[in-house]
Amino acid sequence: MAVPIQTLGDLRKHSGAGTRSVKEEIRDNLVCKLQTGARLFPGIIGYDETVIPQLVNAILSRHNFILLGLRGQAKSRILRGLVDLLDERIPVVPGCEIHDNPLAPLCAACRARVAAEADHMPIAWLPREARFVEKLATPDVTIADMVGDIDPIKAAHAGLNLADELTMHYGLLPRANRGIFAINELPDLAGKIQVGLFNILQEGDVQIKGYPIRLKLDVLLVFTANPEDYTARGKIITPLKDRIGSEIRTHYPATRHNAMAITAQEAWTERTGTVQVEIPPYVREVVEEVAFQARADRKIDKRSGVSQRLPITTIELVVSNAERRALQNGENVVVPRVTDVYAALPSITGKFELEYEGELRGAEQVARDLIRSSVGTVFTGMFDGTDTRTVVEWFDLGGSLILSDASSADEVIAQTRGVQGLRELADHAGLAPGAPAPVVASAIDFVLEGLYAQRKISRSDDRRYAAAESAPRRTARREEPTLDETIPMPSGKKKYYN
Ligand SMILES: [Zn+2]
Repeated sequence: MAVPIQTLGDLRKHSGAGTRSVKEEIRDNLVCKLQTGARLFPGIIGYDETVIPQLVNAILSRHNFILLGLRGQAKSRILRGLVDLLDERIPVVPGCEIHDNPLAPLCAACRARVAAEADHMPIAWLPREARFVEKLATPDVTIADMVGDIDPIKAAHAGLNLADELTMHYGLLPRANRGIFAINELPDLAGKIQVGLFNILQEGDVQIKGYPIRLKLDVLLVFTANPEDYTARGKIITPLKDRIGSEIRTHYPATRHNAMAITAQEAWTERTGTVQVEIPPYVREVVEEVAFQARADRKIDKRSGVSQRLPITTIELVVSNAERRALQNGENVVVPRVTDVYAALPSITGKFELEYEGELRGAEQVARDLIRSSVGTVFTGMFDGTDTRTVVEWFDLGGSLILSDASSADEVIAQTRGVQGLRELADHAGLAPGAPAPVVASAIDFVLEGLYAQRKISRSDDRRYAAAESAPRRTARREEPTLDETIPMPSGKKKYYN
């Protein structure tokens, strides 16, 4: 509409059959999107055949619903995406804290105002973004926070009738009236608060400090919970659970491809300034593989999960480490190497909880093991069937190299020039003819780290590459810390270390 309606009289003239509930409004808008084939929940990747159809069915059924899933599975993001299904704006009584509908006000003040001002009453328009209220449940949330509070003295003066909401300070739920109220981690909410929520949903009234308050609110209630916390930390009371129409399970990305798309969308990798960032695909794959292997690792607590925020923050640190090197070496193209993933330990070690066995090994060593194993998996996938013997022989014959993640691209290329077959293997990592030096250096680094992960060559803590332990000719060098895990084998069969 070009000029929004400004008075109650005009609104009465223009509004059709009457008032719709929020759930009807969201349903109607979803029906339109389905009919026109519009993209639902833009930015949500990998849920097209699992979560989204269930979500659509719940909305079509006008259900309150709960998303069950581990951390970092886009639960909150999905809930925020529901805002797109609301009308762009709705008419409200100006100044009303619970966004009363001018055509059917709930609160006594608005009812009185409509009676007094009739068709001349001005109306305001509320944008959809203001109709989403979100609350993280914690055990200390009170009825006053959630529903509201009353002043007992005022209430006593008003008498014990059910119209005493004039004396009420509204909590979050009434303020979400005519909108969406999202409660994250529902089981953390104290049982009696859940009862209060249930009463509001079921009966439209609630007792506060012994005074019955009538509130026929119109909200879509949506929740999230971690299924593992259900029993560990708290629970959802049965009557409330019963009123939640749909229970929808979320999941981590099923494929590395989807996971990489999510990470690429969320991570900040396009840096400002004069540098140009080029992330080789194998670096992205290694970062993603770290999350996949962490989720499967027996040293890591399955119940708390490994969030998608792990690869997102890791790739950001990987790019930063490469950016730092490029700036210090005067290079204008930033090309991360797989060894930069080790510089991203600060974004990895805090993102998982360790089982006892992991505690023994230590978070940092667990993370290093994951990185090495992930490099091995990605390298084996890309170099399956490729002959690496020439390079391995160079080391077996006593050759060794010391590289640093601070070495410039030119240094890496110059230092490794004498290794027969290395440049050919680097080309196999997808180098375009005439690729700039930082891209070549990154591919060389990948090959060396891949051979190290496959245990065909060894590498010391100070990044000295040499012959493998079992090699025929042994040179004096520091011993490798041994790993008790299975490392992907050159046979090409992808093995997760677990
Ligand atoms: Zn009102």
